Amino acid sequence: MPVVASFRDLAEAEVASASLDASGISNVLEDEQTIGIAWHYSNAIGGVRLRVSDAAAAEARAMLYEPIEVDWPEASAGAADEECPACGRFALELDSGPRKTLAVMTGLGVPVWFWRSRLRCRSCGFRRRVPVRLRPELLFVWLVTGAAVVVALAALLAIVGFVGVMLARVLGFPPDGRIL
Ligand SMILES: [Zn+2]
Repeated sequence: MPVVASFRDLAEAEVASASLDASGISNVLEDEQTIGIAWHYSNAIGGVRLRVSDAAAAEARAMLYEPIEVDWPEASAGAADEECPACGRFALELDSGPRKTLAVMTGLGVPVWFWRSRLRCRSCGFRRRVPVRLRPELLFVWLVTGAAVVVALAALLAIVGFVGVMLARVLGFPPDGRIL
């Protein structure tokens, strides 16, 4: 039985073995136990070797060295690993409404209505709104900025009232506000 591949990592070897199994190619992993227990021996003993029958060797090699097509979800932050319903590509990008709202609110210090998230396809330009998901940090900032605005307004009113009374005194009006 020829060796068709060898792997340093057991997990990799097992994936290859399983994918051959799935295609009906029976195979054997050699030194699987040793490397599973002491992976640092892997290089010394030539890795986990994958053997198949002579008849299946060519097919197995073709399978193993063919680039595997996997649509990995994009790892970038805010990306959605969803398939575009319009063009079928995995190119949907999340335009985060809560993030935008958070940026504006912390910048202005004023609670504003939050924007909804949108999904946008980089490939065909398809757009879709995302159902509202109220995020706790957004609610928190909303409450904090709301409270800050209330406090600021109260302080402003108190200052205006105080200045009004002082002005009235300076100008000779009685402090109770009655104009003579
Ligand atoms: Zn699309």
